[in-house]
Amino acid sequence: MPAESLDNKRKRMKEVLRRLKAEYPDSKCSLQYNSPLQLLVATILSAQCTDARVNKVTEKLFRKYPEPKDFAEVSLEQLKSEIYSTGFYNNKAKSIKSMAETVLKKWNGILPDTLDEMVKLPGVGRKTANVVMGNVFHVPSLVVDTHVTRIANLLGFVKTKDAVRIEKALIKIVEKKDWTLFAHLLIDHGRAVCIANRPKCDKCIIAEYCPSNFGG
Ligand code: SF4
Repeated sequence: MPAESLDNKRKRMKEVLRRLKAEYPDSKCSLQYNSPLQLLVATILSAQCTDARVNKVTEKLFRKYPEPKDFAEVSLEQLKSEIYSTGFYNNKAKSIKSMAETVLKKWNGILPDTLDEMVKLPGVGRKTANVVMGNVFHVPSLVVDTHVTRIANLLGFVKTKDAVRIEKALIKIVEKKDWTLFAHLLIDHGRAVCIANRPKCDKCIIAEYCPSNFGG
């Protein structure tokens, strides 16, 4: 089969997104936060953990440590015990504490609002920074997480598991105004229908645009 043209991918994506928007009209970031730094902390905690579990932990955490200086001052051991249930707590605690110390020292306690500066913070990768850029700084940002990686591949828009290559490919296919919403829509669809290893293709509203449609 000849490779699908970019123009065709854009048209197909437009229809996919039109349907997903109708299906998930309230699609948005499901992590709870009251400031850019809090969303950054919540996103760090969300690695290999459900958003529901993270929200349970951050409800208490953000009440106790509302500002960057609170996270910079808390002992590592104390922080580990408070985020324990999110898993990978050793690395997450180190990342949160060093990130907060850097924000305090280098940025006077205010999170930088550019991707280039944010990814220089300890423990902050491109995916985490894109979540914050798109959701709190409202800079169109395309987040590539496990749902986006899996479903974008199933839909045949990309053929790679490499997050940076996926982001680069998708920003050419998805309209810029939809970049931030894109991940939320795919995450909702990934949780409800296109579930890992057991997709419900017979109930999928974008099945006719999906080359992997396992129902035929
Ligand atoms: S048709 Fe199946 S594989 Fe394709 S997006 Fe829908 S649920 Fe996923």
